[in-house]
Amino acid sequence: MFVHYCSKKIYIVQHVMVSRGIHVKPVKTELTAEEMPRKWYNILPDLPEPLAPPLNPETKKPISPTDLEALFPKALIAQEMASASYIDIPEEVLQGYMMVNRPSPLQRAVGLERALKTPAKIYFKREDMSPAGSHKTNTSLPQAYYNMKEGVQNLTTETGAGQWGTALSLACNHFGLGCKVFMVRASYDQKPYRREMMRVYGADVSPSPSNLTEFGKKMLAKDPNHPGSLGIAISEAMEMALKDGKTKYSLGSVLNHVMMHQTIIGEETLLQFKKLDEEPDYMIGCVGGGSNFAGFTFPAIGQMLKKKMNTEFIAVEPTVVPSLTNGKYEYDFGDTAGMTPLLLMYTLGHDFVPSPIHAGGLRYHGAAPTVSQLVNKKVVKAVAYQQKEVFSAAMMFARAEGIIPAPETAHAIKAAVDLALEAKKKNEKKIIALNFSGHGLLDLGGYQQYLDGKMV
Ligand SMILES: *Cc1c(COP(=O)(O)O)cnc(C)c1O
Repeated sequence: MFVHYCSKKIYIVQHVMVSRGIHVKPVKTELTAEEMPRKWYNILPDLPEPLAPPLNPETKKPISPTDLEALFPKALIAQEMASASYIDIPEEVLQGYMMVNRPSPLQRAVGLERALKTPAKIYFKREDMSPAGSHKTNTSLPQAYYNMKEGVQNLTTETGAGQWGTALSLACNHFGLGCKVFMVRASYDQKPYRREMMRVYGADVSPSPSNLTEFGKKMLAKDPNHPGSLGIAISEAMEMALKDGKTKYSLGSVLNHVMMHQTIIGEETLLQFKKLDEEPDYMIGCVGGGSNFAGFTFPAIGQMLKKKMNTEFIAVEPTVVPSLTNGKYEYDFGDTAGMTPLLLMYTLGHDFVPSPIHAGGLRYHGAAPTVSQLVNKKVVKAVAYQQKEVFSAAMMFARAEGIIPAPETAHAIKAAVDLALEAKKKNEKKIIALNFSGHGLLDLGGYQQYLDGKMV
């Protein structure tokens, strides 16, 4: 009946919908390719105090950049110690980011808000849209790129549950490198689909311990049916890289350059909140080694430290791997065998054996030195949840939003749900943002256990 006011069809359609009481609102805030950030953010110069240097395990003296050259390309070593606040993302990497669906949407969880009957707004950043299924391609692509540029032909790495191995296999394939993945034997046998994804991308996958390295042979001599561990797999991958001049090693979390590559997530998120003309009261991420949390929050933490934002930051971990909430802040090895430099971080001890929870990506004894310092300085708050309450939150999210979260991601969801319920109690319109680090389509075994009432 208002047709004669406007000849544009779209106007009529919108009007009709509103007049029937139907309000269709977008739930995603998107960025165009042109709007995608062109720089990573380096938090090192903005930290409350200078980061304690990694130490050589033998001399206990700070390591020099050349100590690392057998393992990493020069460009990544320079980024590890960079003092500039922003670093240009190479064009080839930007193109790779577009292949893995960047920029990723910031989505409003309207279904979850409705289910919780909360006045809070809940947003989640969609890192599950990468074809590898998680945020890890944000660093695997630049790592493969810089190695390729310096003439490296192969990369070795370790993988536990398989998410990092999948992301690095995709990136090596993209930039024409060979990829050798040592996969913890227990996962190799139990998680065949991640293993096959890596093989589809062209990687060579061996169960660890293997008889391809001296360290692996030593472990197999002790126990031919050794189930393996992430620590052993790291040692095998490093040993293989050290033996061959054309082969280097790649790590998927913990190190400064990895945290920095992941800040593409948080840089996008800041632009998206600017478009919404809102500022989050809380930003939440789960922490294994700390890379998705760092990537999501560091750009905002930089703003907060300069008094330009007023946001609280919450790191979430499992109660059975409580490095940030119950670990010691001290120098420790990054691996189990003691081959890596010593890092100042929250740690449960490098020989800590985590229980076999479904959130395989959170089963790490330490946490990134940058994230650890921010927790130590009380810039970031750490909380821990149990597996069952985490899966209960994951189920609620899946039914409200239709997306099945990774068990790791579900830790962040649980924290967001708790904050949304607190906001309901106090009738506060809080804005809660979480990093949706990955999907759980290859983790359905965990959901099966939960649904069958068999989870402890
Ligand atoms: C690897 C992984 C994590 C944990 O690693 P961080 O370095 O702490 O981010 C969390 N979520 C998903 C989906 C992962 O694949």
